[in-house]
Amino acid sequence: MSIDYVSGNRNLIRAVNSEGRILVADNGNFDLIGDLIDLYKVEAAVLHEERKVEEKALGRDIRFGDLSDGLAGKYRSLADQISLINKDFSTDDYVSIMIRAQEDISPSYLIGMEDFTIAVLSGLGIEPQYMDRGNTWYAQFTRRAIAFTERSQNGEFGLVNGKMFAGLHACDFDTAFQAGELSGEAGIGTVAVGLGGALSDRTWIDGRYFQGKFLEFDLRIPRSYLRVIEIICGLQLGYASVTGERLAMHGLGIGTPILVLLIGALSDRDTFLAVDSTAPIKDAASSKTISLYVDEPAPRKLKADKIIEYWLRDGIEWDCACPYCRNFETRFPSNVTEARDWWLSEGKPKITSSDLYGEAPLTRFFPLLSNPSGEVRSLAAEARIGHNHWVLQRIESFTRDCDSLDLENRIMMVNEKVEAYLSGEGGSAGWQNVVAICWDLVSGTMRQLYEIRSGFHFDKK
Ligand SMILES: [Zn+2]
Repeated sequence: MSIDYVSGNRNLIRAVNSEGRILVADNGNFDLIGDLIDLYKVEAAVLHEERKVEEKALGRDIRFGDLSDGLAGKYRSLADQISLINKDFSTDDYVSIMIRAQEDISPSYLIGMEDFTIAVLSGLGIEPQYMDRGNTWYAQFTRRAIAFTERSQNGEFGLVNGKMFAGLHACDFDTAFQAGELSGEAGIGTVAVGLGGALSDRTWIDGRYFQGKFLEFDLRIPRSYLRVIEIICGLQLGYASVTGERLAMHGLGIGTPILVLLIGALSDRDTFLAVDSTAPIKDAASSKTISLYVDEPAPRKLKADKIIEYWLRDGIEWDCACPYCRNFETRFPSNVTEARDWWLSEGKPKITSSDLYGEAPLTRFFPLLSNPSGEVRSLAAEARIGHNHWVLQRIESFTRDCDSLDLENRIMMVNEKVEAYLSGEGGSAGWQNVVAICWDLVSGTMRQLYEIRSGFHFDKK
């Protein structure tokens, strides 16, 4: 529960607390980070244009030491501005108000105050190698966030009854490993990490830094999934390297089915791990493109227009067995016979998301998969929201089932899902490749963490 949404949800909060369930108080910083990214977007874009000219001359992406001194200096000065303005926002007064609002809902745990600098830099696509500053430069921001959590625990911002999860950020494996080491040294074994910014990143990359060395890929891949997995693995391994224990972790802003599977594989029955996301709601209801989640044969998102196209062209039905789809289909059934007649008479047009709105014919034939006019629209949206969460719960159950197995069998179970994802029809090579690279990192991390036990056991209230 973000403190920004408390007022409309008092009854829900009371119900969660009275049933003794875990209640998490988010800190409400998400919008502020978004505002800061917007504030520096234009300035960053100018520098990125200059960088692309240098990259074109090089014939590849910038590595450490590549960028001209002038441009690296401009990136550094922009980063310094961001770190300064960040201090103007994240004042002690701000933290006091935040903690009071969090404690007001009697949470089981609180997401601690963050330093926004790393999150904003990642959101702007400013990589460590553009500034030519070592990773140690990033440590100051992690230390600042850890200090916020220590001071919160000590009651400097008011009484705190819930457990504090330090709000950390990182931008790649190495900075995450360092953040994990720093929290281990500070004795903080409960960490929340913001990942929504990383997921919204649209850049593609030709390689990655890992333990200071550059590893080049065969083809360019999207940065977003890899950054998320690097951060989770780096934090866990860094923390374990210092403490010999596993970190309890909350990933903020992750609902992508394949990522939930991969991140879940890093946990075990003793290790607290949580993710939260509004993506299953946005994908089901409010985004322009409707996406439905599936977990068989592999976890993925399917666009509603693609589902309809498969159904019309290949006769592959959307015959989901979940209670939400079944109930809705009973009341408002799909009519594929009429739909196919229409589709053939129109010359088998390609279906796009704009064919699934308002009075368009397909909204009559496939109400569950579209946004028809009238009251059916919100009922369909609700059914899809229920469906997407039902699938995520199945992925969670799968993760728990794997937990009873030994390491090799566990890796084999997840590997089957990943293989099914990689061989799926219609996936682009870049997205499949990034999942393969992520799985490589996750399975390696599973092996390193296998004998390591959690130092933290969640005590609900
Ligand atoms: Zn369903």
